Amino acid sequence: MSLRVNEIFYSIQGESTYAGRPCVFVRLTGCNLRCRWCDTTYAFHEGEQRSIEQVLEQVRGYKCPLVEITGGEPLLQGEVYPLIHRLLLEGYEVLIETGGSLSIDRLDPRVVKILDLKAPGSEMDPHNNLENLQHLDRKDQIKFVVADRRDYEWARRVTAEHALAEKAHILFSPVLGELHPRELAEWILTDRLNVRLQIQLHKYLWDPNRRGV
Ligand code: SF4
Repeated sequence: MSLRVNEIFYSIQGESTYAGRPCVFVRLTGCNLRCRWCDTTYAFHEGEQRSIEQVLEQVRGYKCPLVEITGGEPLLQGEVYPLIHRLLLEGYEVLIETGGSLSIDRLDPRVVKILDLKAPGSEMDPHNNLENLQHLDRKDQIKFVVADRRDYEWARRVTAEHALAEKAHILFSPVLGELHPRELAEWILTDRLNVRLQIQLHKYLWDPNRRGV
């Protein structure tokens, strides 16, 4: 059993309610979407086949209890499920970040799911799979990447219509270089939204164009 892996690295978790914690990232190759503002286009094709054992060996080497599986779109590769199973068996706390177009119904309930809902500015909003909302629980996270006021209004409406704040943590994240975090903060405060503003912490700590952070 093997996976096509783009990179594995150890860094500070920059997003979600886990932001600030050291974390091992396993980035899998391939994505079925093409978000306009995607910052990991290098993961669309680059990567090499690694056995699950090889991936686990590298992860163990970092001696870190938190692991995030990301992409690209990590759910495109069926072998992600045995990898998750092995990580959980070894006692890791496992996060997975998915673009939200593929079903998350096979994921182990112990995995923390970070589910993107794509706003119109991504140009991928027709691909949102809203069936996924029924597979979330309170530890899970729904992420809206917001490029402008139109995206914000969309995210606000979807959050209210589906009562999302009752299902999971809600993350509003501005697109770096397109929307200033302060502007998004002001909108959230003005509208009294029960959501979490997140910045991509790793992009402020290091060069935003640097890989493996
Ligand atoms: S889903 Fe993620 S990896 Fe895929 S294009 Fe969108 S931002 Fe990039």
